[in-house]
Amino acid sequence: MAIATINPATGETVKTFETLKDGEIATKLDLAGQAFEQYRKTSFSQRSLWLQQAAVILEQEKVDFGKLITLEMGKPLKAAIAEAEKCATVCRYYAENAADFLADVPVNTDASHSFIRYQPLGAILAVMPWNFPFWQVFRFAAPALMAGNVGLLKHASNVPQCALAIEDIFTRAGFPHGVFQTLLIGASQVANLMADERVKAATLTGSEPAGISLAVASAKQIKKTVLELGGSDPFIVLESADLAAAAATATTARMLNNGQSCIAAKRFILAEAIADQFQKLLLEKFQALKIGDPLLPDTDLGPLATPGILQDLDQQVKTAVKSGGKIVIGGHPLGDIPGNFYPPTMIIDIPVDDPIAKEEFFGPVALLFRVADIDAAIKLANDIPFGLGASGWTNNKEESDRLIAEIDAGAVFINSMVKSDVRLPFGGIKRSGYGRELSIQGIHEFVNVKTVWIK
Ligand code: NAP
Repeated sequence: MAIATINPATGETVKTFETLKDGEIATKLDLAGQAFEQYRKTSFSQRSLWLQQAAVILEQEKVDFGKLITLEMGKPLKAAIAEAEKCATVCRYYAENAADFLADVPVNTDASHSFIRYQPLGAILAVMPWNFPFWQVFRFAAPALMAGNVGLLKHASNVPQCALAIEDIFTRAGFPHGVFQTLLIGASQVANLMADERVKAATLTGSEPAGISLAVASAKQIKKTVLELGGSDPFIVLESADLAAAAATATTARMLNNGQSCIAAKRFILAEAIADQFQKLLLEKFQALKIGDPLLPDTDLGPLATPGILQDLDQQVKTAVKSGGKIVIGGHPLGDIPGNFYPPTMIIDIPVDDPIAKEEFFGPVALLFRVADIDAAIKLANDIPFGLGASGWTNNKEESDRLIAEIDAGAVFINSMVKSDVRLPFGGIKRSGYGRELSIQGIHEFVNVKTVWIK
């Protein structure tokens, strides 16, 4: 894929970029190695000052960053600005807490003194997606840099200006030259990077094929990886739920980011007793959404990020219909205007055992299923290869306890949509990946957990 900014709302190619040549990549890897040798000796308080400054820049320039995000991947501007603000939050969180999270941990043994020490690994490669082009990078970089690692970013090929802007933020915040570098390279160059001894570990957020490819390349070199992959999160509504609140949240949970979020609610699993009523409420909400120019303040739904994503989604909807699914609203791309626009879509009656029912729909398409009781709801929720998040709606304590205990996922949210919070771990199980970001768990992913024994 060429590295370029192509406005998803118009199809216009705004700017193209040359990929780095092998010699240029080597120079950057050398610089990362040299920078690490000095940077690892800096204090937590010094790193914290730089990261706090990055937070200040993000807040001061959030409108400009928001416009860049919207230009490159099409999310509504208000959401793009909020994304830049959230990046400031994760910077401050690790700036304030990293020293505690990584402090020596004394352990009583028969040594005179024994303890655990956390030390940085070196250059960590981050392969990142376009859907939250700032947030995904900052939630990797803030803990990694606070731990004393240096960062190398291979961003998605459709968000090069975001990638360069992020490097610039770290530079202007005061981090030493080479501590965070953007590499404008294609996906095919990632395996070579993993084979390079100057790269010590990697994290990837993206699709399953990309995750598998990175994991295989890393396994050959015995290098640690964290994978944050796809999901098809269930949104379970049981009889005792507050249906109006559930339908309003369901709409946000499905449509956020133009429907392109890994933790979006994608499969709506409804108790038969309330299914008609919930479907009606959800339909009203979908009908009220305003689709259009993502730069306008009242737009709810912008374009999908690329023509390829639009085609894939269109194909999946067609397959769902062939399998017996019925369209309640939407169901076709908005072909009469330029840009990658797909309307809010609701599909019912897809047979639960059909393979299409288990796929991730990366766009504004809701799949609705009906179940007899909570047993059937949990069974259907778990009957997919993914295990990222789940949202359960009930006002019955026993039901809530069962959802928490029995749903196979990295997160269960009761009477709330699934969301990331810097204070809580984020990640999946099954084919949604492994490892965790955010919270204390996130900063412990890329460190050497060193045992120290003194006699
Ligand atoms: P993608 O194609 O996998 O791209 C993600 C990143 O991986 C890009 O930088 C891409 O580079 C790179 N890449 C692609 N193929 C690769 C390969 N074979 N080897 C190494 N790198 C490779 O993913 P996407 O379609 O843009 O993103 C959507 C997916 O990401 C969805 O499944 C979504 O659920 C998942 N996602 C997960 C999370 C999470 O936290 N779990 C968050 C957001 C998104 P190029 O752009 O150059 O191809």
